[in-house]
Amino acid sequence: MSQAGTRTVKTIRVDADKCNGCQACEVICSAFHARPKNSSNNPARARIRVVRDPIADIFLPVYAGGYAAAECAGRMRYAVDGKAYGECALCRASCPSRDIFKEPDSGLPLKCDMCESEPPLSEPMCVQWCLNGALSYEERPAQAGAEAGPSELDAGLQAMADRHGWESVRGAVARMSGRR
Ligand code: SF4
Ligand code: SF4
Repeated sequence: MSQAGTRTVKTIRVDADKCNGCQACEVICSAFHARPKNSSNNPARARIRVVRDPIADIFLPVYAGGYAAAECAGRMRYAVDGKAYGECALCRASCPSRDIFKEPDSGLPLKCDMCESEPPLSEPMCVQWCLNGALSYEERPAQAGAEAGPSELDAGLQAMADRHGWESVRGAVARMSGRR
C-alpha cells in the first residue's frame, strides 16, 4: 500500500529471450477486458501484442502505452543482442501509422491498465498466463505527481471526437463499458 505523498508505479518487465510467441498474453488480455468479462477473446483487442518473426527468432511482447495524435518523425531500427528489430517494433504508442493498440470497432486507443480490477489481482493477467516467465510484474514507490502528465485517454477521445463527433464516441464508450 502507498504511504502518504507517494504512489505506486506498476511495471511489467519483459525478457524477450524467454518469449516463444505463444500469444497466451494477447488472448487472456483481450478476454479479461471483454464486456462481459471473458465473453470473447480477440488478440486485436489486446493491450499487449507480440512482434513475431519466427525465422529470425524474434518474439517481442510490447504492451500498450500512451496515445499519440500524430506519427513521430524519427523512425529507427534497433539491434539488440544481435537481433534486428524493425522500425516501430519497440514502440508502445497507439498512433495513426499502424493498426495495433486500437479498439477494432471504434478505433479508440487501447492502453494497458495493469489489469485494474476489484478485487485487485495478485498480478496482471498476462503475467499470470505467461508460463515461460517472459513477463514479470514489479511495483516501486514514487513521489506523488512526479510523473503526472495529461491523460492520454482524454487526448484520444478528443481526437476521435474531432473526426467522428462526440455522439459516436459516446456510443463506442458505452459499448466498450457494456452499457449497450
Ligand atoms: S505469453 Fe509469454 S511466452 Fe507467450 S507470447 Fe506472451 S510473453 Fe511470449
Ligand atoms: S497488464 Fe493487463 S491490461 Fe496490461 S497488457 Fe497485461 S493483461 Fe493486458
